[in-house]
Amino acid sequence: MTDPRTEELAARLSATRDRVEAALADADRAGDAVDLVVVTKFHPVDDAARLATLGVRDLGENRVQEAVAKVDTLASGHPDLAASVRWNMVGHIQSKKAASVAGWADRVHSVDSVRVADGLERGRARADAEAEDVGPLPVLLQLSLDGDTARGGVARTALPELADHVAGLGHLRLAGLMVVPPLEGAAAAHFADAAEVYSRLRADHPDADTFSAGMSGDIEEAIAAGSTCVRVGTAILGPRPVV
Ligand SMILES: *Cc1c(COP(=O)(O)O)cnc(C)c1O
Repeated sequence: MTDPRTEELAARLSATRDRVEAALADADRAGDAVDLVVVTKFHPVDDAARLATLGVRDLGENRVQEAVAKVDTLASGHPDLAASVRWNMVGHIQSKKAASVAGWADRVHSVDSVRVADGLERGRARADAEAEDVGPLPVLLQLSLDGDTARGGVARTALPELADHVAGLGHLRLAGLMVVPPLEGAAAAHFADAAEVYSRLRADHPDADTFSAGMSGDIEEAIAAGSTCVRVGTAILGPRPVV
């Protein structure tokens, strides 16, 4: 009934969940919940279907074209599985593509400008007009810790204004903060820094209750700093195929 790849994914998924549980216990956060987003970028849609079969609810993608193809293929090939999946956009969004992202994403982690937010707002308004009960799109603001915004993310000085802007949009819901730590320096220190920015954001916007931090290599450091959502690719799917 199960193929070898499904068994491999099941084993890696379970090992990753164990890491999350152990990190929560180490941080004395045993009762807390941490969402696991499994990032399937570069891997085939069959893997996304296998993960959904294994009970994974949140799948993540970082490139628009690849995501659209996978969302469509899963929806037409496995409508039952597709209905159980929440697609997370975790990658950089060009402002001219933002409206289209709102057509397939169920949550966006990478809002880093007013133009991207406005594009998502337009796209979600359109989706709302076409189907009933779509509801506001949950979005996280991506923070650039080192201010090198060319790598994605909003500078910390510009974050409060962007947060207020998003909070004022009717078709988006400000859901939290996302960070990818800079390569230079210790991940733990970067996550602690981001956690402070997150707590200030939450003081102003109490409903922004998601802190998306932690990838395959730094799940433990992120959870120690208070992450409520880890985005894991290679630890579950293996190395990304070269395309
Ligand atoms: C690829 C990616 C991940 C997953 O990275 P891994 O190191 O493979 O776990 C998480 N977040 C973002 C934004 C990504 O692009």
